[in-house]
Amino acid sequence: MMRAQQTWSTPAKEEQNRHIPCALCGGRQFKRAFDCEGFGYVRCVKCGLVQINPQPEPTAVHSRYNESYLSYELKNESSFFNLGKLALKDAKIEEIERKTFPCGEKRALEVGCATGALLEYLKNRGWNVQGVEISEAQAEYARKNRALEVSTLPLEENHFKDEYFSLIYASHLIEHLNAPYAFVKEAHRILSVNGHLLITTPNIDGFQAKLFGTRWRSAIFDHLYLFSKSTLKRLLTDAGFVIEKTVTWGGIAQGFAPPAIKFILDRAAKFWGFGDVVLMRCAKKS
Ligand SMILES: [Zn+2]
Repeated sequence: MMRAQQTWSTPAKEEQNRHIPCALCGGRQFKRAFDCEGFGYVRCVKCGLVQINPQPEPTAVHSRYNESYLSYELKNESSFFNLGKLALKDAKIEEIERKTFPCGEKRALEVGCATGALLEYLKNRGWNVQGVEISEAQAEYARKNRALEVSTLPLEENHFKDEYFSLIYASHLIEHLNAPYAFVKEAHRILSVNGHLLITTPNIDGFQAKLFGTRWRSAIFDHLYLFSKSTLKRLLTDAGFVIEKTVTWGGIAQGFAPPAIKFILDRAAKFWGFGDVVLMRCAKKS
């Protein structure tokens, strides 16, 4: 079978790993899901969350996000920026802004803001913006070239004030984190009531994941978790969020079908929800 172009990842390497309970339900029973080159995924028997387990320590994971990620981001900056704008559009950013702005709360945080292109776009839409980016090289790029305020500490270590932000955006981030539940809990704490969290991640229930299996472009060493709509929904609702909108995109990867077929597959994937990436817009209600 042809190999779809994979998302860039740190090459698989030997690290100190330890067995952890399931990050979603605390379960300790897993079935082998699929094996990739140099690493593999298991599926929790209780809740179905697909994960790399045993898992490396957060410090080892942290050290992966070095300069090599900056060149990848810069090379793809314009296409990532366009996808980011599409995500905001599909999440109905204008509706969020209409609800948010009259109250005077205009603070947005992007976690995993990379080179800051989308954060700059939000700033130009009238938001006061801040970023979190653990890759020092990327954070520095965003500060220097876009005059953005960017922290290199993991979200939880910033100790932002309770209910400080009215919008938090995290794109293609949660699948990289050791502790995704701690992340969404922290996002909930620092969001104002009626504030929104927008989150995107690869969709393991999508058509492409099923078609490509272990060769799926998102089955990579850096993705510690592969969420489905249902496991992501559970993670967010367990943390107290109300899901307001779910969208998926991407029927087939570039180059795998003639443009006309790709067009139809992309439309169908979005309509029926079997796209390659899932976006959830959720709100903090209390
Ligand atoms: Zn589980």
